[in-house]
Amino acid sequence: MTQKLILVLNCGSSSLKGAVLDNDSGEVLLSCLAEKLNLPDAYITFKFNGEKRKVDLSAKPDHTGAVEALMEELKAHDLDSRIGAIGHRVVSGGELYSESILVDDEVIAGIEKCIPLAPLHNPAHLLGLRAAQSIFKGLPNVVVFDTAFHQTMPEHAYTYAIPHELYEKYGLRRYGAHGTSYRYVSDETARFLGKDKKDLRMVIAHLGNGASITAVANGESRDTSMGLTPLEGLVMGTRSGDIDPAVFSFLAENANMTIAQITEMLNKKSGLLGISGLSNDCRTIEEEAAKGHPGAKLALEMFIYRLAKYIGSMTVAAGGLDALVFTGGIGENSDIIRERVLGYLGFLGLHIDQEANLKARFGNAGVITTADSKAVAVVIPTNEELMIAHDTARLSGL
Ligand code: ADP
Repeated sequence: MTQKLILVLNCGSSSLKGAVLDNDSGEVLLSCLAEKLNLPDAYITFKFNGEKRKVDLSAKPDHTGAVEALMEELKAHDLDSRIGAIGHRVVSGGELYSESILVDDEVIAGIEKCIPLAPLHNPAHLLGLRAAQSIFKGLPNVVVFDTAFHQTMPEHAYTYAIPHELYEKYGLRRYGAHGTSYRYVSDETARFLGKDKKDLRMVIAHLGNGASITAVANGESRDTSMGLTPLEGLVMGTRSGDIDPAVFSFLAENANMTIAQITEMLNKKSGLLGISGLSNDCRTIEEEAAKGHPGAKLALEMFIYRLAKYIGSMTVAAGGLDALVFTGGIGENSDIIRERVLGYLGFLGLHIDQEANLKARFGNAGVITTADSKAVAVVIPTNEELMIAHDTARLSGL
């Protein structure tokens, strides 16, 4: 076979996720996950042909060690010479990047410039990028930004109502996230419905452990629920979403908490986990709510109500609604949440088709509203890796 494969890398500060994809079929030939990077017991797990293999990284427990181990694994399966380019997920491209781009020194400097906007993520992406450049010598690298798709948001949607000089001085504004998923899902929705995306006003809910919602019109993001950071917006697994900013001074004065403690609480101990006191995992919350656990019942209702409220407001941003789209682990699988969200949206003319809703699970796309609904609600599985692979192949000229 001569066809070139794409390696997609997603580097966090202590983890590295990788996948080798066939850009045409979308097939994942090999995947890996390195964990506990920069700790003595770092390791990487490879998945090839349905089989898992764990490799110790303690001799070199950093991003370079992980990429070296990946190279060895690729060699063992004769895949190394078939890799044509590498695509990297990058959390923040700030206002510098509105699309994916082939990496050169200037792009590396650009990602560095955006570090204040993603202080944990962008430095980790750069480590992965440098490791890939040195180990996969001569291959083109492409970066795909989570924020890029949202650069079409109008000023009145991305600006915070605080002194404008703070935006000018620090770039303090709303940037959004999950952009790669939204781009993929908006294209797929149009394809699935047999329409041109330019003719569709969509509200897309990407509901995973992190959750957000975006208004898309004319194929472009018009508004999104995440802001300067992924903390704003919906109730999430462990994040609070929207909250009165005065919570900071209230907790500082009454609970003697520091800014760092409050920030950590809002990001890691809130959302479904904080309300229920049980778990951030939506399946657990649904199961416990069904058994009558009061915290789980409240967490589930708050998740659903906030989401329904946001769908209403995103309908304004999209200028109307042709398609409401559910994606992400929860959006693709939870018939319960979809049904209860649609229960709030009868006034928009959306009515659930119970049977279709139950069928749209485990990777199956499908329209879940009745034929007499004024708009469609549809489940479309996301595939961020494939979108990154497509951009990487296109920009590398493969
Ligand atoms: P991440 O944001 O980490 O990529 P995912 O998109 O994988 O997350 O989604 C993870 C969430 O999806 C978890 O809360 C999980 O409980 C939820 N989920 C997966 N399957 C189901 C299901 N059948 N019913 C309800 N929730 C589900």
